[in-house]
Amino acid sequence: MSANAKVIEMTNMVSEDGQGLMYEENLLWEKERSDHPGVDLPEPEGAALRIGVEARDADIGLPQVSEPQALRHFVKMSTWNYSIDHGFFPLGSCTMKHNPRLNEKLARLPGFAHIHPLQPASTVQGAFKVMHELQHWLAELTGLPGVCLSPAAGAHGELAGMMTIKRAHEHKGDTSRKIILAPDSSHGTNPATAVMCGFEVRAIPTKLDGRVTVDSFKEALYATCDKGSDIAGMMVTNPNTCGLFERDIVELADLLHKAGGYFYCDGANFNALVGKVRPGDFGVDVMHINLHKTFSTPHGGGGPGSGPICCTEELAQFMPVPTVIEEGGEFRLETEEDRPKTLGRLKGFHGQFGMHVRALAYMMSHGADGLKQVSEDAVLNANYILSQLKNDYHVPYEGPCMHECLITDKHQKEAGVTTLDLAKALCEHGYHPMTVYFPLVIPGTMLIEPTETESKDSIDRFISVMKGFAADVKAGDTEKFHGFPQSTPRRRLDEVKAARNPVLRWS
Ligand SMILES: *Cc1c(COP(=O)(O)O)cnc(C)c1O
Repeated sequence: MSANAKVIEMTNMVSEDGQGLMYEENLLWEKERSDHPGVDLPEPEGAALRIGVEARDADIGLPQVSEPQALRHFVKMSTWNYSIDHGFFPLGSCTMKHNPRLNEKLARLPGFAHIHPLQPASTVQGAFKVMHELQHWLAELTGLPGVCLSPAAGAHGELAGMMTIKRAHEHKGDTSRKIILAPDSSHGTNPATAVMCGFEVRAIPTKLDGRVTVDSFKEALYATCDKGSDIAGMMVTNPNTCGLFERDIVELADLLHKAGGYFYCDGANFNALVGKVRPGDFGVDVMHINLHKTFSTPHGGGGPGSGPICCTEELAQFMPVPTVIEEGGEFRLETEEDRPKTLGRLKGFHGQFGMHVRALAYMMSHGADGLKQVSEDAVLNANYILSQLKNDYHVPYEGPCMHECLITDKHQKEAGVTTLDLAKALCEHGYHPMTVYFPLVIPGTMLIEPTETESKDSIDRFISVMKGFAADVKAGDTEKFHGFPQSTPRRRLDEVKAARNPVLRWS
């Protein structure tokens, strides 16, 4: 029997969400038989083996398989791509929520899906109207009137926002400001973006309750200059990456503004605030929004992202072009002639238009009240998990959390079971693990974000699986944790080596 059809036996089903991944699947090159061509066509007579001027002098080397073989190969592999449509995906900070299929239906309407960005503006007025409307919703929700939709991901939005800040300082002739403040718990893209823009990053230490305090902020703000006049700005996620709301954010923003810096907010965690709080009201000057997180457009091994930025009127003159503007009932793209201080274009055409359609569909189908409920339910679900797991796992920060909760492996580690073991055990039980070992400020973190789209049943099942792990560890049944996952086609991998030295060539 060939290995390629081998089905690994499923011995005991441990959760309703399934177990492992069932199929072993070899490469197409291992399946193929060169004496069995997949297509049964006679050799063309007298035809030259060439494409254009290039003659083929060797075998083309494609695997010879039939259509059903090829189809099964790719369908099986597609089932290995764990997604939110398979099961619970509690990846903290990433907001893996259900993408309503209504969004997909609308994005596939021919008037949206079949247009071309080079079409004359008069023939795509409807598409421009969608972008204009989305700009309006984002401005309303953030309290920041300048909106640029073109950045293609969160990190790209960060770049757009930080370049906007840099340009604003340059415009004032203030080029000596080189320092960006960022909490030590911040997402890696924040310091990376600041450095890419030519700034230096100074960490603000997170204090015992997981937040930035006014004192630690002042210390960082005035560290090298007593008025803070070397500070270009700060990059802060609120709620922060520990899932906690920065209570002193208004005061921090005031101090920063007095020192002449701008406040960049990483808006990836907007799912906790949408419809409840407008970041512009707590002092934000510019932020990016991950449409593919808060507003449900697909992400994670799937569709493209979209990371629009929203900014104050002051910064709006500097942000990238294009945006969509309305003039006398007609929509058109704003150009560099319209807005001469712009930093220019950061992206071909207008950004990920399909994502704009999906995000607006999501907003309009929820309505203002529905969006508010989204964040209330997301926060409720995270707190429910925290309250159920707090006696089984170490909880580093007291009190309620926002849209994600943080636990650690402190208790289990004493028995030799680590966060990595627990994450692998979740794979065995058919779950995508939570975010692990991030944020870096606490050892062995597990950051869990259930989102509002999970039912109480599915959350309860996850909780009982997590409680089961803790009970097993407590009872001394720890050995099995080092061997998980058992039921997947691949077991424990050296992920770092796989990422650093991928083997991309079959021989
Ligand atoms: C996801 C995320 C980002 C980056 O967004 P991408 O679309 O993945 O580039 C930045 N900051 C935080 C806090 C995030 O969760």
